[in-house]
Amino acid sequence: MDIWIDSHTHLDIIEKEPIHQQELVDRLNDQNIKAVITISTDIPSYFSGKTLALNNPDKVFCTCGLYPSHAEDYDNRLIKALIEQVDEGIAIALGECGLDYYRNYGSPDLQKTLFRDQVRLAKTCHLPLVIHARDAYEDVYTILKEENPLDGGVMHCYGGNADYARRFMDLGFYISFAGNVTYKKADSLRESCRAVPLDRLLLETDAPYLTPVPHRGKKNHPGLLVHTAECVAELKSVSLNDLSKATCQNAIDLFKLDNLSS
Ligand SMILES: [Zn+2]
Repeated sequence: MDIWIDSHTHLDIIEKEPIHQQELVDRLNDQNIKAVITISTDIPSYFSGKTLALNNPDKVFCTCGLYPSHAEDYDNRLIKALIEQVDEGIAIALGECGLDYYRNYGSPDLQKTLFRDQVRLAKTCHLPLVIHARDAYEDVYTILKEENPLDGGVMHCYGGNADYARRFMDLGFYISFAGNVTYKKADSLRESCRAVPLDRLLLETDAPYLTPVPHRGKKNHPGLLVHTAECVAELKSVSLNDLSKATCQNAIDLFKLDNLSS
């Protein structure tokens, strides 16, 4: 059976109660999910991810970071709290952070300040970045190019065109695809996916969001990753086994999950 790493999921949003989050984790083996990275969006969600990561070594990994929705309340207290989280040495990446001009998350200038500070923090502490970008690819690209974070990162839930994908790969970034690549109207996204070579590609659920076809409309969870994988394997004309090997290795390389190497 092919096994997968869900490189971007939100266990704390799928289930509120820690006991139910653990039940999700307990099911991962049966769903052929080797590991998940539960992604932080704010200060409390790191603590939730940290608890799961500590209780489930080599199965759950966590990040710390501030989602663009914090642009307006971003202050010294928040960045101090984030630095304390990084210093614990448990988070394997910084994010998700980025720019979102689709939603009303505060002015582009406020969002850019929050994003740029986190890119700099990632650089100082040698963590890869998990980047959220929506209707903001040019500004995200400019900031990454200017700041040049050397530990790379991933453009999560990629939604841009093939040209931007190539530009982010030129900066050393991986491109991650979620369930929306399976959607009927996602032709341009599928074209982007074809343009990303296997050694730059990651898979994610972004659960509870973006449930892949044929489960669209239901709440997403890591066990549904295989449907996105099947779609991507077909787009890339590779076997599921080759896709599984490549994407697991890419996640291991990017996030330095050395214990998972087999
Ligand atoms: Zn996310």
